[in-house]
Amino acid sequence: MSNRLPRTVRINELPVAVEVVPSMRRKKTVSMEVYHSKIILRVPASLPSEAIFDLVEKRRQWILDKWQEVTEQPQPVASNTHAAPQDILLYGQELSIVHVTEHATTRFALKHRDNRVTIVRPSKTFNDQFLSETTRGLVVSWLRTTARRDFTERLDKWASVMSVSYRDFRLKDQKTRWGSCSSLGNINLNWRLIQAPEWVIDYVVIHELAHLRELNHSPSFWSIVGRYCPNYLEAKNWLKIHGAKLLLW
Ligand SMILES: [Zn+2]
Repeated sequence: MSNRLPRTVRINELPVAVEVVPSMRRKKTVSMEVYHSKIILRVPASLPSEAIFDLVEKRRQWILDKWQEVTEQPQPVASNTHAAPQDILLYGQELSIVHVTEHATTRFALKHRDNRVTIVRPSKTFNDQFLSETTRGLVVSWLRTTARRDFTERLDKWASVMSVSYRDFRLKDQKTRWGSCSSLGNINLNWRLIQAPEWVIDYVVIHELAHLRELNHSPSFWSIVGRYCPNYLEAKNWLKIHGAKLLLW
């Protein structure tokens, strides 16, 4: 039920998409949000599209100023808005999010198929912040469940290949580390890692399991890692480049 009409305005010679989101609520005013790559206009559902684009023309200078202000700031990785990201990463693949209203349902649900995640919602009116937070909650809990299952299997597989045994595994929610291993043999892994390609997850698992032999980062530690994960430098590099993207959810 997407009735957004993407159009473009040129700002400093750069095409910037304008997304018009008709409000289902009895909204009487127009609001504008300016981002790096697009402008979102929330409008009363009854407003004709010509009037909307007249408005954009009229407020051109304001948009230009605002856009300049926005583009001078870093990309909104650590944005403090409640907006959920537009895509989900799973094993390094981008999945798109589709929102579907179902009249027969009274509950929100998440369905995953191929490279699409569908958020099913009841046909009631919800405000944008509530929808955004609910989407975030559903996606995060689904990613965490997937991560818990995957990491448990992966740890068991690699522990047996490497002939080591760990004591306990905990799924962690951290913004600063991907994994850790304690001197007691407990392994912690960050659920956000489920968004990385499998060969990168394997690297982190092998790294933590190698700490069961060497609780340091000495050359002999890296030689254990390299034995089971010959491309570990590439994996470290992948995390350095793409790591911030995994922190969006
Ligand atoms: Zn380490």
